[in-house]
Amino acid sequence: MATPSAGQLLTLAASEAAELSVMIALVLVPLVACLASVLIAYGLSGTRRGERPHCAHCHYDVGGLPAGTQRCPECHRSIIGPQDVLIGEPVTRRRWVVWGAVTMAAMLLAVILATVVIRRWM
Ligand SMILES: [Zn+2]
Repeated sequence: MATPSAGQLLTLAASEAAELSVMIALVLVPLVACLASVLIAYGLSGTRRGERPHCAHCHYDVGGLPAGTQRCPECHRSIIGPQDVLIGEPVTRRRWVVWGAVTMAAMLLAVILATVVIRRWM
């Protein structure tokens, strides 16, 4: 049996490294994509700020309406019940959205770079 040359060993090591990179990518890419999606979804789900009442259906500010008003002037739905009115102005959690987008972009960049490096090895 012939002893493999240094070039053959290097090619074998590069091939195994590429296989390992692909295996890691198959686990990490979906995981990071899920994390980034959760960050973005949480950020877009938003929160409420302030004490003014808003229509639960269309988020119209109903705080300045005359007493006894029963319908939202914007969407014409009932604003009588406690479930029809939400306290506070809806706001997006921008930082969460930005971090999710940055995470997603970094992952895509890593995938592109890894693809380029692996193609050069092959
Ligand atoms: Zn409304």
